[in-house]
Amino acid sequence: MPNIYQQCSRCIMDTTVPGITFDAQGECNFCALHDKMDRACPLGKLASGTCRTWRPI
Ligand SMILES: [Zn+2]
Repeated sequence: MPNIYQQCSRCIMDTTVPGITFDAQGECNFCALHDKMDRACPLGKLASGTCRTWRPI
């Protein structure tokens, strides 16, 4: 567990979340993952069923 309290600058996640890390901008790894998936498969495409590569974590 990290011993320095930090909260993500974008979402409500903080250092109480297991496995969380923060980048230089103070954003958590979950936000980074969201961005990565959103680039790979934007929600609009997913909703319309055109994205076949997206898988839930
Ligand atoms: Zn976050």
